[in-house]
Amino acid sequence: MNQRVVIIGGGHAGVEAATASARLGVETVLVTLRRDSIGQMSCNPAIGGLGKGHIVKEVDALGGIMARAIDETGIQFRTLNSSKGPAVRASRAQADRDLYKQCVRSLVESFPNIQIVEGEVSGLVTSGSAITGITLKNGELLKASAVVLTTGTFLRGLMHTGTTKTVGGRNGDVASSVLSDSLKELGFRLGRLKTGTPPRLRLSSINFTDMHEQPGDSPARPFSITTAGITRRQISCWITHTTEKTHNIIIANKERSPMFNGQIKSGGPRYCPSLEDKVFRFADKSSHNIFLEPEGFSSDIVYPNGISTSLPLDVQDAFVRTIPGLENVEIIQPGYAVEYDCIDPRDLRSTLEAKDISGLFFAGQINGTSGYEEAAGQGVVAGINAAHLVLGRDPFILSRGEAYIGVMIDDLVTNGVDEPYRMFTSRAEYRLILREDNAAFRLTPKAMALGLLGDTQKRVFENLSQSFETAKLHVESTKVTPTEETNRWLCSIGSADLKDSVTLAELVRRPELGLARLLEKFPLIAAAEPLALEVLETECKFSGYLARQEDEIKKLQKVESELIPENFRYDAVHNLRVEFREKLKRYRPLSIGQAMRIPGITPSAIALLAVHVKRDREAPENKTSV
Ligand code: FAD
Repeated sequence: MNQRVVIIGGGHAGVEAATASARLGVETVLVTLRRDSIGQMSCNPAIGGLGKGHIVKEVDALGGIMARAIDETGIQFRTLNSSKGPAVRASRAQADRDLYKQCVRSLVESFPNIQIVEGEVSGLVTSGSAITGITLKNGELLKASAVVLTTGTFLRGLMHTGTTKTVGGRNGDVASSVLSDSLKELGFRLGRLKTGTPPRLRLSSINFTDMHEQPGDSPARPFSITTAGITRRQISCWITHTTEKTHNIIIANKERSPMFNGQIKSGGPRYCPSLEDKVFRFADKSSHNIFLEPEGFSSDIVYPNGISTSLPLDVQDAFVRTIPGLENVEIIQPGYAVEYDCIDPRDLRSTLEAKDISGLFFAGQINGTSGYEEAAGQGVVAGINAAHLVLGRDPFILSRGEAYIGVMIDDLVTNGVDEPYRMFTSRAEYRLILREDNAAFRLTPKAMALGLLGDTQKRVFENLSQSFETAKLHVESTKVTPTEETNRWLCSIGSADLKDSVTLAELVRRPELGLARLLEKFPLIAAAEPLALEVLETECKFSGYLARQEDEIKKLQKVESELIPENFRYDAVHNLRVEFREKLKRYRPLSIGQAMRIPGITPSAIALLAVHVKRDREAPENKTSV
């Protein structure tokens, strides 16, 4: 058997899948339509954001490349929600679009065991219920022991700008249609989704004079734990807004909008709506903010975040000119919407392998998600599992209590999608545990155990852990006694008197006190890593909540470990209502935990199921003899 993993697609899922597989030492082939579009950002030139920044840091913790690429090419870094609690703080950075793509490509090319093949994959080759390879449009056959499909918006991609319909996966790229047929033939249920992008504007035609400037943070904070600091010059973004005139133009042209005249039939992202969507859905609002994001240091292109549209070009031209500062703007590339095929992710296991075709994995937008980060997170998991299959290792699954990536994959494979899925912090039940700051602490030990990391990352993480442990010991063992001097000092920093002796770890729980402040008075022997102190401070301040969430995670692990056999006969559970039986047969949950998350299944149905699964497992014919 040919011990090779083939990745189809060089987007954000594909590059992570390829590099994860290669890091595990497996011969990896990345097949993509165009080598020069590896790592291309199809829409906004930015990485991270609420919920998404968490995924980028998790990808980094698992040795992935997205965080390093944005650190290398970012032109504006910001921490969102910086005044809110640690669970919802999130990093976001604008990228220099061209530099980002170049950086990703060179990171992929730096792996000697990744071979890049330029070509269109036209079919999947199977033998029985296992994948054995792929075919290219030129007739070539590539054998593979595992395949990861990451074709983004390209499957039967159809772009809309007004009544103009163009077949293509994104601007400047062809669509891939035959692969959809191949998936259908293999029994996959295909759905159709839609996303959109705004027109791109010429920087030199914009008047920034009256706009609100939005500078980045100083100092800029990197995403990857391996990046010592951001040294590139940083630039500002600008904020403007739509006006009543803008809205009137859109209202007057409703019938010319593919979104509203029936031309686009598939569901788009509710949380990232087109401008026409916003104008009609939030009719009481007379203005919406627009963030003007320069696409790079030497680029004359600006990405206007907030005005994604598929209206005809003449309408786009008219409405942008009603926006303050854009009166004389030049549109370089019109906005458009794209409809595309995706699979039903309920056809996948938590490893992202197809339930019915062994060795065939899926990651990214093809699974019904939207966003570079969501794609990258799935790419890492699919790449690891594809390599593990080849190496004969155990599946790699992240649970809802371990990572946002685990939450996302569980949501997808359990509930499927009816609109493009994007990550929000509200999707995670244990968000105080799944913070951005502790992503490395949560996941890097796993990555090390699997052999996914290079020497530099291992060394950086070991230093970080050591720094954390030293500081932890210090705060837990340093006693602060209620002397007059101590109370005077506490008063001087706005805190109340001490009545009894406490440790530093207890003292830092006071909301008005920060760890850095306490360490000025009770210093550590050696300087600690700032990230180690950030994690420690949160763990001290929220120790009670964290302990409760950890307890809940343990309970979750218990139900997750109660696996339902693949051939479990739901029809044999006679007392189970027919509608539940049908639903369970359709979803085929892999564990009692997953069955519990299927919408509409009642606790009593779960209890009944659990009893039967246990009885089935303990039946003499199902027990393996030792
Ligand atoms: P992609 O990055 O699209 O990569 C797909 C890869 O597959 C490409 O390398 C392509 O060459 C390759 N490929 C496709 N078919 C074949 C084939 N048959 N053979 C070989 N290679 C193939 N995300 C947001 O979060 N917010 C948005 O507002 C948003 N708007 C978008 C608007 C548009 C118009 C588009 C196109 C995308 C938008 N996105 C948005 C989505 C974002 O770009 C994707 O989520 C992300 O790029 C998905 O990554 P991926 O790796 O799954 O696919």
